[in-house]
Formats: sequence, structure tokens, C-alpha cells
Amino acid sequence: MTFEQLNLIEPILKALKQEGYTIPTPIQTEAIPVVLKGYDLLGCAQTGTGKTAAFSIPIIQKLEEQKVLGHSRGIKALILTPTRELAIQIDESFAAYGRFTKLRHTVIFGGVGQKPQTDALRSGVDVLIATPGRLLDLIGQGYISLKSLDFFVLDEADRMLDMGFIHDIKKVLPLLPKKRQSLFFSATMPQEIERLADTILSDPEKVEV
Ligand code: AMP
Repeated sequence: MTFEQLNLIEPILKALKQEGYTIPTPIQTEAIPVVLKGYDLLGCAQTGTGKTAAFSIPIIQKLEEQKVLGHSRGIKALILTPTRELAIQIDESFAAYGRFTKLRHTVIFGGVGQKPQTDALRSGVDVLIATPGRLLDLIGQGYISLKSLDFFVLDEADRMLDMGFIHDIKKVLPLLPKKRQSLFFSATMPQEIERLADTILSDPEKVEV
């Protein structure tokens, strides 16, 4: 399997070449077609399997095909992840894979001043990567609306639970548009995680690596 065979568009193929990627990882081979087709996804995968590219590449592609990148009025994709380190890594992935598109992305997390983050939000973003606490903070202050969201990704759901973020996530869910595509990733699938996935996903395809 090659990235070309996954029907990726030229700007993304070019970016992947620059990254030095030659073959997709198993989670990428399985997840990218599912996301491109518009299905919800339940992914059972650890960090290090290439799951970040598995969700960011098809999201960039779909937004590029909708011709919304660079001038969307509101945020089109929200990625929720438990830690600042993960958030920064995901943001860097969107930067790398979206390099040859007009994608605008930004990352927000707690423990630092919010001014640079709110400035970035004000200038317009297509993809927002966030940790739950800071997201809710900035939503509460009116800096963020999720009304025009097309994609919602919950990354590392089991770690979210372990870190006590379940209440924050439950506060975010009612703010999401009902009509959206949702992707849910967890390294493990205990019952509580499956129940959470059930409340977020609609008729998902399951991918396990
Ligand atoms: P992740 O599991 O998303 O944290 O990715 C783990 C690491 O694998 C990251 O450093 C990626 O840059 C790298 N990576 C992801 N997909 C590929 C690929 N298809 N070929 C080579 N490296 C990759």
C-alpha cells in the first residue's frame, strides 16, 4: 500500500514526501479511507502507531476539497487531547501535512498566558487543537464558538479519563453540532470508554491495530 493508493491529493502527497514518509502505517491504511468516506471512526491505537497522521491527513484533505481552508468563518475541526505535549505534537503534524494548503491551525492549552492564544483565534483558524480545561475557559469567555464544526476528534480517550477530564468532555459535547464527523481514539477500550464512545459516535467503523 502507498499513500498514492489512498487517493490523497497532491499537496498532501508532496508534504508526506518532504516528511520522508514512504508507506502508510497500518492504522493509516485502515483509517484514512474510512474518514475520507465520511464515516465516524472508533480507533484502538497507541501513540507511536502513526494515529495522528491517520486523522489529520484525511481531515486536511476533506477541508481542502470543501475549499474552506484559509477563509472559513468558524472553526471546522476540533481535536481534543489530554496533555500540552500531545497538543503541540498534533499541531506540528497539522503544520507539516498541511504545509502546501492554506490550512490555518492553532493550539491552546493551560498553564500559560491566554493572550497569544486568543490573538491566534481572533485571526481565524480552520483546525483547533486543545486540552479540555483551556478550551472550556476560552469558550466561557466567548473567544471560541464550535457552531461551524465539521470534525471532532477525541484523542487518547483512556488517558483523558485517567486524568479526570471526563466532566470537561461532557461539558464540551453539548456544544458540538449534531451533524458532524467524529473520530475517537483510545489505546484501551474498558467499558467506561466504550460508553463514552457510544455517546459521541454515530454508527462508527472500528479500526484496531
Ligand atoms: P503518532 O503515533 O501519531 O504519535 O506518530 C508517531 C511517529 O511516527 C511520529 O513521529 C510521526 O512523524 C511518525 N510517522 C507517522 N506516520 C508515518 C509514516 N507513514 N512513515 C514514517 N513515519 C511516520
